[in-house]
Amino acid sequence: MKHTFKIFMDFDGTISRQDVGEAVFRKFADEEKTNRIIDDLLNDRIPAKESWIQLCAAVDKIDKKELDEFIDTMEVEPTVYDFIKFCSTEGMDIYVLSDGFDYYIDRILKKNNISGLKVYSNHLQIIDGKMVPSFPYYDENCFSSANCKRNHILNHSSEDDFTVFIGDGNSDKGSVEYCDFIFAKDGLLRFCEMERITFFPFKNFIDVISKLKELNSKKRLKKRHRAQIKRQQAYTIE
Ligand SMILES: [Mg+2]
Repeated sequence: MKHTFKIFMDFDGTISRQDVGEAVFRKFADEEKTNRIIDDLLNDRIPAKESWIQLCAAVDKIDKKELDEFIDTMEVEPTVYDFIKFCSTEGMDIYVLSDGFDYYIDRILKKNNISGLKVYSNHLQIIDGKMVPSFPYYDENCFSSANCKRNHILNHSSEDDFTVFIGDGNSDKGSVEYCDFIFAKDGLLRFCEMERITFFPFKNFIDVISKLKELNSKKRLKKRHRAQIKRQQAYTIE
């Protein structure tokens, strides 16, 4: 039995090994402000969009060349290549949903020869040494991600699809609930445990591949009931 899976995955800490967004601000922004803003974000005291605006404002003047060189030191998770190949062979569409910025995502993907992924993220420009963010996919209903990941999931899946989410942290909190199968590590794993959301723990993409193979070989595969309810609610409210 073949099922249709749609793959939605985070970028920072999931495709990239480090949280690149956080690393950039820890390096280039005022340290004390950065600590406070990230603490506010992780404790749900400010929405993600507000945290990005504050973080960008906490960078005095940035040298583009220095920024690019720093971004080039960031690494991708080595098993991501196996995963992209697996999805392509199986005909599973991958959507990268990031609450980070296109500026470094595009650069990192290109440098590591990863192409052909559909990527949705926030937008960042460097204008006269200033970091200027903008948020093309902002939705006030998404608190923990300025790029509303939930909306992309709803827009790119139908009731015939099994939705899969792969992520590691804060920006994924609002969207995992809408997916049938959740792969979680680190902060997202702790969130799922706390919220009693069913998930598969994973360390790298080899774990994800073997679980997806197992799911795909099942004759009968059930959607997650809570995700179905959440999706229906989102459709009827908006
Ligand atoms: Mg992440």
